[in-house]
Amino acid sequence: MGMGNAPVLILREGTKRDKGKDAQFNNITAARTIADAVRSSLGPRGMDKMLVDSIGDVVITNDGVTILKEMDVQHPAAKMLVEVAKTQDQEVGDGTTTSVIIAGELLKKSLDLIDSNVHPTIIAAGYRLANEKAQEILKGVAKKVSLQDEALLEQIAETSMISKQVNSSKKFFAKMVVDAVKTILDKDENGKYTADLKNIQTVKKAGANMEESELVKGLIIDKEPVSPTMPKLVKNAKIALIDAAFEVKKPEIDAKIQITDPEMLSKFIAEEEKTLKDMVDAVKKAGANVVFCQKGIDDLAQHFFAKEGIYACRRVKKSDMERLGKSTNASIVSKISELNADDLGTAETVELKFVGDEQMTFITGCKDPKTVSILVRGGTNHVADEVERSLVDAWSVVKVSIEDGMIVTGGGSTAMELAMGVRDYAASVGGREQIAIEAFASAMEIIPTTLAENAGLDPINMVIEMRKQHKAGKKYAGINPFTGKVEDMMDLNVIEPIRIGQQAISSATDAAVMILRIDDVIASKSAPA
Ligand code: ADP
Repeated sequence: MGMGNAPVLILREGTKRDKGKDAQFNNITAARTIADAVRSSLGPRGMDKMLVDSIGDVVITNDGVTILKEMDVQHPAAKMLVEVAKTQDQEVGDGTTTSVIIAGELLKKSLDLIDSNVHPTIIAAGYRLANEKAQEILKGVAKKVSLQDEALLEQIAETSMISKQVNSSKKFFAKMVVDAVKTILDKDENGKYTADLKNIQTVKKAGANMEESELVKGLIIDKEPVSPTMPKLVKNAKIALIDAAFEVKKPEIDAKIQITDPEMLSKFIAEEEKTLKDMVDAVKKAGANVVFCQKGIDDLAQHFFAKEGIYACRRVKKSDMERLGKSTNASIVSKISELNADDLGTAETVELKFVGDEQMTFITGCKDPKTVSILVRGGTNHVADEVERSLVDAWSVVKVSIEDGMIVTGGGSTAMELAMGVRDYAASVGGREQIAIEAFASAMEIIPTTLAENAGLDPINMVIEMRKQHKAGKKYAGINPFTGKVEDMMDLNVIEPIRIGQQAISSATDAAVMILRIDDVIASKSAPA
């Protein structure tokens, strides 16, 4: 191979490649498109999005992460912003729109800096410093919250629901959610509270007003007993969980049995009957008065169960079986003849109840009291779905507030404190990073700006007014989208867990830094042309 001036070809000719400023510009533009897509949904006056997939299924939501998950995002840098929302959702459960908007704004500001020849690594370094400062300021403005502050915890739940369809029933749901989280609370060895949200289950049923939703301290299984002659209520329930069919095994191959006389026929039937009777007897002998079976129950077995007064459900979902096992302390048994008293679970009551015109099984007073279920109602399936999503957000913020014990005020008030604090800090850093830190500070103002925009207010006037009040020491001054004025968010009870801000700012910073550091985008082998 010659060593002349001919370029050495490493990449196949025609490989898609963006370099330097082009790469940065394209990445940032793609990421910002994502942020812009969710902007109009932020806050109590934010709008909902209707997402329609290729087969015409519709999701209507205001929830940032749901919007992004449903959107068909292609660009790699844009996907990173979707990741920010997902992380926020996993770590906090709320604030997904906020996190994406902040990331988008950090990137937008960085584009201006790149244009004026500030190197991306300097911007990245400045953003990192600013993030650390912001975290410190957040802790400084936060207030303590304890488990006893029930009213405050309910307010936190309400704040997360203001921008959602459940807004009109937020008081009703806030009480329910706080009650639910308190019920599942655990204390670790250091005396710290933890709540495992897997212990809250929802069962959705359309066809009723949202406020007919119900909290059940126990489990709801969407099943009714196999026979109407079975009891509707069992007290002191002894529960058997069976992962086998109460049926006589049919031969694998089609077998023909020649029956030559009536005696043989009745003997044959009697044998089948005995097998089924033995199965039911095994359950009875173990002491069970309730059976949840993951497989089928033959008609004859149904009849025997009913005769014994045993409450039996069939084809129960595997996930429900597992939940039942955990909360009633029962073992799932796959050989009916081996069932014994130790395998049974217990609950105070197992009851068949009407939900609309359907019936479901309610299991209350479980061995493990840390299980709750919420029966979610809504006029239509779409409404019930959105109620459920709002409840998930609400119980998440209550959980993290109890776990962290710290809250901050919303309405852009905390963002404004961050903007001012970080701006002051920039001056003390000096050098070229200072410009990046200042950009970070201004990026924080995107929250009050967007809240104002979405409420149809003049964002510039609102932000100027907020700056004035914060300078005068009013650190809770934020935007009231309903009156169009700058007001005290603490007085208005617009409060949220500190973790929303902590996580949103740090993952937004991470994403922005990561995108900024890329200066070469090369289509790899398997990438689509
Ligand atoms: P996210 O997905 O980020 O939680 P939301 O659409 O739920 O987005 O909006 C949250 C934002 O709305 C937060 O900045 C919060 O402080 C603000 N907010 C919520 N309720 C109010 C209110 N009553 N007054 C002012 N701001 C509010």
